[in-house]
Amino acid sequence: MKKYNPKYYSDNREPLIKKNTSRKKDLRERKREHILKRFDDCCPHCGTTATHPIKLYIEYTMDEPPKKSPFDLPWTHIDLLLNNNYLEVQCSTCKYRGKPADHIGS
Ligand SMILES: [Zn+2]
Repeated sequence: MKKYNPKYYSDNREPLIKKNTSRKKDLRERKREHILKRFDDCCPHCGTTATHPIKLYIEYTMDEPPKKSPFDLPWTHIDLLLNNNYLEVQCSTCKYRGKPADHIGS
């Protein structure tokens, strides 16, 4: 009577896990887009958009940032950070070669 079906479980485990992972990835991607939209999808320092090979980096600006990636935070938390300017976007050029403002006077 109390028959559970181990085969059913093992057959279905794989796709279930896969689905869960891709949903999580999808969510992180949506959060990334949400943050970048606030910055008009470009680097606020030089106006560059994320066209290959330029990447846009999203970073915390506060002294004690959360341990998690901003994409793993709840939506409300992300908005709170955005509203308080605790998140910054910079392109790979500005990140590694300095922002245009850093070069003024040099
Ligand atoms: Zn830039």
